[in-house]
Amino acid sequence: MRIEEGVVLARFTTIGTGGPARALAQPETVPELQEVLRFARERGLEVATIGLGSNLLVADEGFGGVVLKLAGELARAEVRGELLVAGGGAPNAVALHRARAAGLGGFEFACAIPGTVGGGVWMNAGAYGSDWAAVLERALVVSADGDEWRTPAELGLSYRHSGLEPGEVVAEVEFRLAPRPSAEIKSIVAGLQAQRKAAQPTNKRTYGSVFKNPEHELTSGRLLEACGLKGHRIGGAQISPRHANFIENADGARSEDAIALMAEARRRAWEQYGVELEHEVVFLGDLELPPLEK
Ligand SMILES: Cc1cc2nc3c(=O)[nH]c(=O)nc-3n(C[C@H](O)[C@H](O)[C@H](O)COP(=O)(O)OP(=O)(O)OC[C@H]3O[C@@H](n4cnc5c(N)ncnc54)[C@H](O)[C@@H]3O)c2cc1C
Repeated sequence: MRIEEGVVLARFTTIGTGGPARALAQPETVPELQEVLRFARERGLEVATIGLGSNLLVADEGFGGVVLKLAGELARAEVRGELLVAGGGAPNAVALHRARAAGLGGFEFACAIPGTVGGGVWMNAGAYGSDWAAVLERALVVSADGDEWRTPAELGLSYRHSGLEPGEVVAEVEFRLAPRPSAEIKSIVAGLQAQRKAAQPTNKRTYGSVFKNPEHELTSGRLLEACGLKGHRIGGAQISPRHANFIENADGARSEDAIALMAEARRRAWEQYGVELEHEVVFLGDLELPPLEK
């Protein structure tokens, strides 16, 4: 198993910010994953799993624990009958490619989600009216205590949420799909990608949706747009001029710039609409948003 010290995590996040991890381990099998989890527990080190870093904001000062990046057989995908079986570290694009090649449909929505299969379980990722919970049969969850298969109900999946705890790693996932001609899958994917391109900043470095949609008639994006935030810039980060629920790395952004923008967005949404926005992006390291002045 590859283990490196002091690796700068900006290399592994789609926004391209974040400081060094004390250690980065790349387990390739379940026993290797268990070994590193136990090693960290014995030394009292915090553990965090990183997928493709597509919904992650890492502190500029870095993370003092062990970062796990699943590799080898924990990052592969294959089809077995009507099951799409993938390691937690398998990119969604690879899993979707395998499903399409085997003529299995139902996972097309994941073409819009540039993360891994395990990252998708963590927050029940979803798009275009579907989500992980809709296609997931079960997931193998590994911790320092052992491993167990969990169903969507046992994983506690709801809107952009699971009941998984830090230190629990999704090592393998089974999706139940249904036969669909490859050409049809290809055309569905092309349609969804065109929709995405028309609405979101697909050619910029971002971490996807910044805030969850609130219980309000406006989505987070529309709400922040109405607060006049499109294009608002702090340091090297700016709120996308295209879609206000995205923060772009405009030029040499730091995570602290993104945090300052998020704080400003929350303040305005609260003061102008009485809405308390909750962040969807996951924080790693010593990062937090200032409390709202109510
Ligand atoms: C341009 C763009 C568009 C996006 N569109 C969407 C969208 O339409 N819908 C949507 O839901 N999301 C969207 N996202 C956000 C993101 O792609 C998803 O949340 C994705 O599921 C994150 O996966 P990841 O592997 O990159 O996880 P990371 O960002 O690396 O990590 C996110 C969280 O998952 C945990 N995690 C990762 N892997 C595992 C694992 N194997 N086991 C346990 N925990 C794990 C991490 O510890 C962290 O807490 C978008 C992002 C971008 C950049």
